Amino acid sequence: MSEEPLSEDADGIKREKAVVVEAQALDYAYGTGPQRRQVLSDINLVVREGDVVLLTGPSGSGKTTLLTLIGTLRHIQEGQLSLFGKDVSKTTTKELLRLRNRVRFVFQRHNLLGSLNVLQNVISGIMVTPLSDPEWDEQRAVALLDTLGLGEKVKSWPDQLSGGQQQRVAIARALVSLPDLILADEPTASLDRESGRIALEQMRALANRINCAVVISSHDERIFDIATRRVHIDDGHLRELETTGTNPS
Ligand code: ADP
Ligand code: MG
Repeated sequence: MSEEPLSEDADGIKREKAVVVEAQALDYAYGTGPQRRQVLSDINLVVREGDVVLLTGPSGSGKTTLLTLIGTLRHIQEGQLSLFGKDVSKTTTKELLRLRNRVRFVFQRHNLLGSLNVLQNVISGIMVTPLSDPEWDEQRAVALLDTLGLGEKVKSWPDQLSGGQQQRVAIARALVSLPDLILADEPTASLDRESGRIALEQMRALANRINCAVVISSHDERIFDIATRRVHIDDGHLRELETTGTNPS
């Protein structure tokens, strides 16, 4: 890869990669009383900027539950979760919103809006602020689509694209706001081998450029080497696996 990881500053000084996610002793259960079912037990996980963590585990092992906890779409029951160094259970609503705005999701089904064209779908991922400049937003979205090999498709409708192309649009929508964390839940599940790889390799390269941390859940063995780290959940417990990936970072 030609891009330098941003953790090495422009002047070449290396600094320690900041902790993006820190989960400590997380437990999670669905239901109450006799219906109660513990899904996650004593989960400990640290994700730093630039990490591309692959979260594997059988279906029903709690991958989606963990991603939604990390993304603050679900309340913590037991244990602690810090995002960007802030304990999420001790934040005000306003602070929590600010943390959440630094996180983007990519889902198994790309969830594009059928009534918006490709470019509009990507622009919808950009937060509007008083300082927003629609023209600049559009330029960035077009440039990103171009990088993802979709430069010819900006005016197409989602249903005119292949599954792999649609997933890349969803990835562009997640990346366009320059998030600090991307949580991708089985993003290649509906894709064939080639398009799944292309989509994830491009996501990894772009995330690397903006020094974004990525957590990808998958049980797709074909993408294992995309990650810098692998963690596996089974029986509610999470453990780090040795990475055989070729990712240089
Ligand atoms: P994975 O993503 O690894 O397939 P999930 O996190 O979706 O696993 O689910 C873990 C377990 O929790 C599964 O047994 C599932 O049936 C159960 N589960 C998930 N969501 C709910 C829910 N909203 N209510 C009750 N049980 C749930
Ligand atoms: Mg799931």
